[in-house]
Amino acid sequence: MIDFNGVSCRYKREYAGEGALPVTALDDVSFHIPRGSFIALVGRNGSGKSTAARCMNALQLPSGGTVLVDGADTSDDEMVLTIRQKAGMVFQNPDNQLVSSVVEDDVAFGPENLGLHPDEIRKRVDRAMKAAGIYDRRLDSPDELSGGQKQRVAIAGVLAMEPECIIFDEATAMLDPAGRSAVMEMIRRLRERGTTVVLITHFMEEAAEADEILILKEGKILSRGTPAEIFAVPDLISEAGLDLPAAVKIRNLLRQRGADIPDRVLDIKSLAEWIAGNCPENVPG
Ligand code: ADP
Ligand code: MG
Repeated sequence: MIDFNGVSCRYKREYAGEGALPVTALDDVSFHIPRGSFIALVGRNGSGKSTAARCMNALQLPSGGTVLVDGADTSDDEMVLTIRQKAGMVFQNPDNQLVSSVVEDDVAFGPENLGLHPDEIRKRVDRAMKAAGIYDRRLDSPDELSGGQKQRVAIAGVLAMEPECIIFDEATAMLDPAGRSAVMEMIRRLRERGTTVVLITHFMEEAAEADEILILKEGKILSRGTPAEIFAVPDLISEAGLDLPAAVKIRNLLRQRGADIPDRVLDIKSLAEWIAGNCPENVPG
């Protein structure tokens, strides 16, 4: 679905004097995101995640290398609209993504720009608002909504475009736990429908749900693997400036005490199941 081929991105330093070296946000990065997969993109602040995200729907063009979205080069002007339709993006701050004073108008904004028939727009907008769990607020102003509800509106706006791929750039960062789990639930449903999902997140519990985790460090790929593989190497996680999911920390502490817990145990539910299955004497049925 998405191919980065030797992608480099450089920014001019804003306040530096003449001759200052540019910031290299991405440095000769190559990776492939298969159609229908769920990939978590992680790394400390400034590692290049948002730059990579913006390259994925032609909001930004690389200074070197190529980005292909479903085979279309993002630097091809004639393909930009097609690319934006195929790859939708949800940002951190929902306030920056909402443009209208009524929820359903906001959700309709994208499809209207596609020039679809009004009946088709109505269908898509209703479907998207229902999928995002915001249908009952459709006639309200986004100003009256909580951060989590606004993010649902922003997600509905992307869903209404019916993209094949959605990139979430720290879309849960400003939400409370309930808002975060609602977004994760939407992501689970999207992947069941075969939508490609790229999730940029600081929450390793969220990354643990992906098919694969890609770690960026200083604009380069530090590692890529399944969550079980990535979280099996704590040194890698600390080198990337990241933390292990809580369940993996507890798992590792139990391992130090001799428990033979497999690498696939990454979340609290499977950890609890492992404990109940292996130490039944300590867990009343
Ligand atoms: P992340 O999303 O992982 O925090 P970014 O892609 O936002 O990383 O930033 C990568 C690097 O590029 C950082 O050093 C950041 O300061 C720099 N950078 C990002 N956007 C700009 C910009 N518009 N102008 C100048 N430098 C930028
Ligand atoms: Mg960012």
